Amino acid sequence: MENLRIPGPTPCPDEVLQAMTKQMINHRGPEFRDILNRVTENLKVFFQTKNDLFLLTGSGTGGMEAAVVNTLSPGDSVLSVSIGVFGDRFATIAEQYGASVTRLKFEWGKAADPDEVGRVLEADPKIKAVLVTHNETSTGVTNDLEALSKVIKGAGKLLLVDAISSLGSIDLPVDEWGCDVAVSGSQKGWMTPPGLAMVGVSQEAWQAHANAKMPRFYWDFTRAKSYLERGQTPWTPVIPTVFAMDKALQIMMKEGLPNIIARHIRLGELTRQGVKSLGLSLFADEKYASNTVTAVNAPNGKNANDLRKILLTENEIVLGGGQQRLDGKIFRIGHLGMVNEGDIEAVLSALKLALPKVEV
Ligand SMILES: *Cc1c(COP(=O)(O)O)cnc(C)c1O
Repeated sequence: MENLRIPGPTPCPDEVLQAMTKQMINHRGPEFRDILNRVTENLKVFFQTKNDLFLLTGSGTGGMEAAVVNTLSPGDSVLSVSIGVFGDRFATIAEQYGASVTRLKFEWGKAADPDEVGRVLEADPKIKAVLVTHNETSTGVTNDLEALSKVIKGAGKLLLVDAISSLGSIDLPVDEWGCDVAVSGSQKGWMTPPGLAMVGVSQEAWQAHANAKMPRFYWDFTRAKSYLERGQTPWTPVIPTVFAMDKALQIMMKEGLPNIIARHIRLGELTRQGVKSLGLSLFADEKYASNTVTAVNAPNGKNANDLRKILLTENEIVLGGGQQRLDGKIFRIGHLGMVNEGDIEAVLSALKLALPKVEV
């Protein structure tokens, strides 16, 4: 069987896949209402939130767009804190909807510096909201969101967080860290197929929402809330993925959030030590290296994609490539969701055999 080691979509347990073969049901009936309510409540455990949480049919990017259009107005000043491809995407979404975006970029592979963010916020009091990526999947870096939040919430700004590849895997107490909108996606750490974005919405986000003028229809939180009160979604949801997520969350509840977080820490460490012991180097600043995805530099003078090809054809192991200017320069090992020591050890032993075979 293929060992899918990309940072989403991730493999799903058989029971989760089986759940998707169920016959369709009325999405406005009592059976769906019970499932939607259960999924929403269970998700709140993993978001560590008591606030509103919505399931939106769409991929993670849809959730990012929802965070922006529901809380901001055209012309609003927004600070984008970007450490990679997904941080840049968040900024672009806000720009497309007419926000005036200041882009604060940090070198790829590094985490954002909270002091620098504080200086920018102090210099420009007009800034209303800050866009932050918790775990930057393109570079394998996890920002110190707790420290960033202290600065951002301390300055009274709205904090919109792309936690698509961290929530459910890496500790993120959404309420405690003052995330006003926190976004995740079903196909990352949730052992669920693609199709759902999940968004947590704070009281402060609702206050911003009341005055937010960006155009929105499909993603409108007011509609999501009024339908959820009846156990429904405003539009036809991706029912099979909801079935799947219901099952996956039951499995996750059994393991328990602390154990899930600990497993990701362990596997992140195992991956990093393993690639280093093969003589490879990490792309990310190790102090902030992600426990859901490891970015590895291509061996000297070699193309990372050649290495990926060997693992695919000889071992049925699928690794992620580098995005944009990192194409060929790095490869990425996903270790989130349904993953254990054996999956990582298989990657490491395959890499060991493949390394001497890559042409310069
Ligand atoms: C995967 C990912 C996205 C994009 O999610 P899609 O589901 O592909 O739209 C955005 N941000 C981060 C950090 C991601 O890992």
